[in-house]
Amino acid sequence: HFWASCRAKRQIFALSFISNVSFCEQNKSLQGLVGLRNLGNTCFMNSILQCLSNTSELRDYCLRNGHLTDLNNNCRTNTALMDEFAKLTQRLWTSVNTDSVSPSEFRNQVQRCAPKFVGCNQQDAQEFLRFLLDGLHNEVNRVTIRPKVSVEDFDHLLDDEKGRRMWNMYLAREDSKIVDLFVGQLKSSLTCTACGFRSTVFDPFWDLSIPIAQKSTGEVTLKDCLRLFTKEDVLDGEERPTCTKCKGRRKCTKRFSIQKFPQILVLHLKRFSDSNIWASKLSTYVNFPLKDLDLWEFSSEPSERPVYNLYAVSNHTGNALGGHYTAYCKNSAQGEWYSYNDSRVSPMSSSQVRSSNAYVLFYELATPSHSKYQTCRL
Ligand SMILES: [Zn+2]
Repeated sequence: HFWASCRAKRQIFALSFISNVSFCEQNKSLQGLVGLRNLGNTCFMNSILQCLSNTSELRDYCLRNGHLTDLNNNCRTNTALMDEFAKLTQRLWTSVNTDSVSPSEFRNQVQRCAPKFVGCNQQDAQEFLRFLLDGLHNEVNRVTIRPKVSVEDFDHLLDDEKGRRMWNMYLAREDSKIVDLFVGQLKSSLTCTACGFRSTVFDPFWDLSIPIAQKSTGEVTLKDCLRLFTKEDVLDGEERPTCTKCKGRRKCTKRFSIQKFPQILVLHLKRFSDSNIWASKLSTYVNFPLKDLDLWEFSSEPSERPVYNLYAVSNHTGNALGGHYTAYCKNSAQGEWYSYNDSRVSPMSSSQVRSSNAYVLFYELATPSHSKYQTCRL
C-alpha cells in the first residue's frame, strides 16, 4: 500500500514537473534576481523584502494570488498592505529585462500603517519584519470574528496536551498563511526552589531574539547563542514570581524550550542592546550552518529532530550610529546564493554568506514532521 501510494505521488510529481518546465520556458525571466531601488533610507526595508521574496512558499502564495482568495473569503475592507506586498513580489519574479524595481507603492502603504518606518532615522530590520508579518497576517487572517478568550485551567494537564490546547486556542484567533509559515510555540518552565512545583507557559513566537554568546577564546557558534537563550535562568530578588503552589513570592528557575518548530525559523541575533537600540553594536562573528542545523537539543520533545537549512540573511554593516542593510539569499530555482544590495544583485559564493554582519537569519525546516510527502522524497 505504501509503495502504491508513493508511485501515485511520483506520477503526480512527474506531471507537475513537466508543467513546471513549460512554465519556466515561457517565463525565462522568472528568476527573482531583480533589485529594489533605495528611496532614501529604505535599505532596511529592501533587505527584508528580498529575504521574504526568497521565502518560496510565501512567494508562491503571492504569485498565484492566494491572498485574493483569502481576502475574498474574509470580506475585509483594508487589504492594501498585502495587495502591495503581493504586487511587489510578483514584479520581482516576473519583470522582464529589468535590473531593479521601485518599492514606492509598497512604501506608501508602510507609511500609512506605520509612519515611524519612513523618515531619516536609522531603522531596525528585525523590528520592520515583525511589523510587516503582523500587518500581512491581519489582512489575510482566515478568522474574521475572533472568539473571546475563555480562561481555562489547563494546569491539571500534561505539558504536551497543554501546549496543544494553547496552540489550538491561538489558531482559533490567528490563522493565516503567514502563521502557517512563521509562527512557532515556545515553552517556558518555571520551577519554585522552595516547594519544587513546576509550572509551564506556552507562547507563540514569530521569531526568536537570540543573545550573542561571548567567549574569550575560540569562535562563537549559533548553537552557543541558542544554548545561552535556553539556559536555565534564576529569578531572584525583585524578579521573584509568585508560586501558585506555595502561594508566595519565591526564588524560581526558568528555562525556555521549543514546543512547536515553525516551518520558517527566523533567528534575530541581538547585536544591539535592548535599552538603547543604537547605543552600541556587537560585531561578534557568529558561525552558523548553511545546512543541517539540528535543533533537537532545544526541543521540549526530545524524540523530535528538527533540521533546518538556511536560505536568507539580512546583514547590517556599520556601527550603532549609522549603517547599511543588505541581504544574501539563496535562489530556490538554481540553488545559488546572491547578494542583494538595494538595486544591485550579484552572484556570490556560499562561503561568503557567513559574516559578522549577519543580523537576521532565515531557516527553512528540512524535515517537515507533518508533511504527507515526507516518506516519498524523490
Ligand atoms: Zn512553591
